[in-house]
Amino acid sequence: MAEKKFLTSIIIPVKEESEGLDILFSRLLPILDELPTNYELVFVNDGSTDNTLELLIEKQKSIPQIKIIDLSRNFGKESALYAGFANCNGDAAISIDADLQDPPELILEMVHYWLEGYEVVTAVRENRDTDSLMKKRSAGVFYKLINKISDDTKLTPNAGDYRLLNRAAINAFLELKEKVRFNKGLLSWIGFKEKIIYHAREDRAAGKTKWNYWKLFKFSIDGITSFSKTPLEVWSYLGVIIAISGFLYGSFIVFKSILFGVNVPGYPSIITFLLFFSGLQMIGIGMLGQYIGRIFIETKQRPLYIIRKIYDASDEKYNNHQNNIA
Ligand code: UDP
Ligand code: MG
Repeated sequence: MAEKKFLTSIIIPVKEESEGLDILFSRLLPILDELPTNYELVFVNDGSTDNTLELLIEKQKSIPQIKIIDLSRNFGKESALYAGFANCNGDAAISIDADLQDPPELILEMVHYWLEGYEVVTAVRENRDTDSLMKKRSAGVFYKLINKISDDTKLTPNAGDYRLLNRAAINAFLELKEKVRFNKGLLSWIGFKEKIIYHAREDRAAGKTKWNYWKLFKFSIDGITSFSKTPLEVWSYLGVIIAISGFLYGSFIVFKSILFGVNVPGYPSIITFLLFFSGLQMIGIGMLGQYIGRIFIETKQRPLYIIRKIYDASDEKYNNHQNNIA
């Protein structure tokens, strides 16, 4: 067979995925062999507490294209992906979930479009059949909202992290060093010539999702506060409207009192206004807190992740390299 040109990195963040690894390999490997390029498999072990790491080390003995980045603890998928991109050697890299919800067959198509000249290839789920109605609805509302209020980035609805980036896009992505990371937004923000391909999202092959509604809600707040100043600014407009209404209502009361005398009863309206406006103020202060909290995290300049060890069959020096801090 002719020598293959180029290297494609497949980046797979894993947390507690030991149950699904065998199915993953059995579906992924035949596809990777069909690739017109060489490949490497970069697994980022994001603090798994099961035997995911041991299984991967075992696999590496027979599959030398495997590279394992073992993080010192769980840093979350967004940071794990960054670690993968930062430690891959590919001319292009594809990030894919370990649970086979992103069908690996698309890799061939992605690489095809990349070799044709596209710089980014994004997989968009065509259906959300595997999601509950509530998740579907809330995802729809989220995309509408963020695209309305985001300052300069438009998100492609239903595009996840399953994407191919060429080397220039990988480097651009790595340049974005913010700590509160919302990859979907960051990946749209970097731009580049993008090809969108559609696919059906499958059920998890094994194991459980690490998401719940509370986590998803907090994640969507991260998304919005990372890409929009609107929630911060809306209070000044609201304040002006309320102040004007307050002035008009106040004037009305004053004139009414002058013309018709003081009308003492009014307790219900006072309490209603008091409760409503103190609630509104608290929301405003809370919104400030959301942003200040993020400023606080960013100013600490901590690394996004810490590597315990890199297992790389092709590079002996890594295997003696402990406590490699990114
Ligand atoms: N994952 C990770 N760190 C985490 C949570 C998840 O690396 O803290 C990995 C997980 O192993 C999987 C991928 O990210 O490969 C997607 O996770 P999951 O299936 O839980 O998310 P969902 O598909 O439900 O959005
Ligand atoms: Mg999943």
